[in-house]
Amino acid sequence: MEKKDIKSLTLAELKAEIAVLGEKPFRAVQLYEWMHKKQARSFAEMTNIPLAMKEKCGECYHYTALRAEAVQESAIDGTKKYLFALHDGNMVESVWMRYKHGNSVCISSQVGCRMGCRFCASTLDGLVRNLTASEMLDQIYAITKETGERVSNVVVMGSGEPLDNYENLLRFIGLLTDENGLHISQRNVTVSTCGIVPMMRRLAQEKLQITLALSLHAATDEKRRELMPIANQYTLAELMDCCAYYFEQTGRRITFEYSLVRDVNDTRRDAETLAALIWGLNCHVNLIPVNPVKEREYVQSERQAVENFAALLAKKGINATVRREMGRDIDGACGQLRRRFLDNGSAGTKLTGKPDLHESDRQ
Ligand code: SAH
Repeated sequence: MEKKDIKSLTLAELKAEIAVLGEKPFRAVQLYEWMHKKQARSFAEMTNIPLAMKEKCGECYHYTALRAEAVQESAIDGTKKYLFALHDGNMVESVWMRYKHGNSVCISSQVGCRMGCRFCASTLDGLVRNLTASEMLDQIYAITKETGERVSNVVVMGSGEPLDNYENLLRFIGLLTDENGLHISQRNVTVSTCGIVPMMRRLAQEKLQITLALSLHAATDEKRRELMPIANQYTLAELMDCCAYYFEQTGRRITFEYSLVRDVNDTRRDAETLAALIWGLNCHVNLIPVNPVKEREYVQSERQAVENFAALLAKKGINATVRREMGRDIDGACGQLRRRFLDNGSAGTKLTGKPDLHESDRQ
């Protein structure tokens, strides 16, 4: 029988587990604090828990502790990219960014992805598996340990489609924002989706105070279908209705992600169509020059085209920012570090710091 994943349990669930083991309820609180407040890497570190109980826990539970297989640090802005090994040998990536207002971590929600967005490196080999709540959490815990600095913002914008891993995502958000753990405010958590409409509606009904980011990337159905297969399932009209619903339910402004691809979606006409599409919605637009992925032919928009695009949106009264490029000299784009690692062969392969031009600001 597979062992239960102890770091994915809520405090209430842990209390019930501990009672079954015949231990006192306060032990559950101690265990929980070791896992989620002190971010212990193993049962062995839990100095005020009796040895016999630690042994019993070791037999009954799986303890998630991700191992950093590679770390790349940007010489430009200190952005760090981590490649973590999971217990089954799979790999995921996370990015750590330092801002004036605090440190931000971008985490992965799945190994690979099945959404098939044409410009994205994470999806090239499809979905391998969902991450558990503890595997999402531990990306943040491991980075906090490694940097020695508190994380204040979390963005679920790494590899994977978070709304395709809904139960684990919600469990993760619950643990991350719990006052007995890291206690990150919901307002400092952003979840990015390619636009799975029924799941967005379900999320709206949870009435969380997180930010929902929608990867739009095109302002007509035709263009969006070329870039994102999910657009064959849901039209932009449905998506816009859904965004309005999300705002109605939560009072939270939607963020639209729009990656600018040269000659594909970056013309004046594209900007005008986008402005008309989202006009009147309480939203913010993040413009991102697309990260070139070597397996794909997409090219970044010219700097001038990006500026013109942003200026046109501003003129129409739409709140838009161009994402600051961070970690340009490391593999910033989703899924690229993992791919390079897999291409290079077995675990333990040393990565070379080949400079690639990437944007990795996940704020
Ligand atoms: N599946 C989710 C979250 C992961 S992708 C989603 O689709 O939103 C995080 C963001 O990075 C998305 O907006 C995605 O479209 C974008 N992205 C992926 N590959 C990119 C690339 N090569 N260049 C620019 N943005 C990219």
